[in-house]
Amino acid sequence: MTNPEPESGSPIIEPITPADHRIATESPRQVPLLPSIAVVETPRFHIVGYSVAGEESAVQIPELNVVFDIGKCPRPFLVSDFCLLSHGHIDHSAGIPYYLSQRIFQGMSPGTILCPAKIADGVAGIVHAWAALEGKVSPHRIVPMEVGDEFEIRKGLIARAFATCHTVPSLGYTLVDRREKLRPDLLEQRLPGHILREMKDRGETITYTVDVPMVAYTGDTALAETLLQDGVRDAQVLITECTFFDPGHKRRAAVGRHLHLDDLLEALPQLHNDLILISHVSRRTGLRRAAGALKRALSKAAVQPRVEFLMDHAQHLHVRAGKAAAFVPPEPPIIDETDG
Ligand SMILES: [Zn+2]
Ligand SMILES: [Zn+2]
Repeated sequence: MTNPEPESGSPIIEPITPADHRIATESPRQVPLLPSIAVVETPRFHIVGYSVAGEESAVQIPELNVVFDIGKCPRPFLVSDFCLLSHGHIDHSAGIPYYLSQRIFQGMSPGTILCPAKIADGVAGIVHAWAALEGKVSPHRIVPMEVGDEFEIRKGLIARAFATCHTVPSLGYTLVDRREKLRPDLLEQRLPGHILREMKDRGETITYTVDVPMVAYTGDTALAETLLQDGVRDAQVLITECTFFDPGHKRRAAVGRHLHLDDLLEALPQLHNDLILISHVSRRTGLRRAAGALKRALSKAAVQPRVEFLMDHAQHLHVRAGKAAAFVPPEPPIIDETDG
């Protein structure tokens, strides 16, 4: 079985078991009619996305004008002006040329791609290579990012890069709500506005900065420590990969530098997120079995955080293979000869 992303770093060939054979030959099986886009509502914004390991990952927060990764660019994702790319594996990045070109075609402003600095030339190369097919380079902006770098999405909304650990250069991103607040001592004095303005004009610092990490997105990563960084463990919403759940898949997780359920469980007691959304689950395990493993593990945990699967929120629309009605050619129209 080939996979666009080397989940394990090197091919691991497993014999086909009788159970696999049964799954392959049982029919009819239900086939998704459309890619199942998930929609999660939180108090401040929606999280819209699709994420399956090795296949495609793209997660949008429409209200914050960003897309995290852009596997194949689902159409609604075009409206976000900023694409925050975690790494270059094709299931996270293949949509870049389409996203940039289609935004121009639809009359939108050029898209901006934030990406790990080490792959910025590679991203630019893909965009320019596509020009050989399209006849022109799509207007765009590429912003190379290093760990700790900040980029202002709009006033008061900051994207901050944090360290992740994968088989290729990678970064995670935290979206920070940054507000300037009046110094508490000045607030207590209830000073009128013109006095505060005079103080400011004299060069006095009258405010202090409050950063609220709203969302952290890890992209692909190994190591529980990734989740324990400031701005990640305390983000209101943490969107983290957790690719593997089976006890027998720990080696795959280690080689491919992905999180295994055991890694997530190790970090969990120190996470203070209102919501933890799991993305990038491998089809080797599947959502139902992964959910069962998580439920069993959490039943023994001292704390019960809110942990959900992104793709559990997918809008499912299925068609049963082999059940279509027979095609009947349309009847020829009846022509009334009397009308001449
Ligand atoms: Zn991936
Ligand atoms: Zn990857």
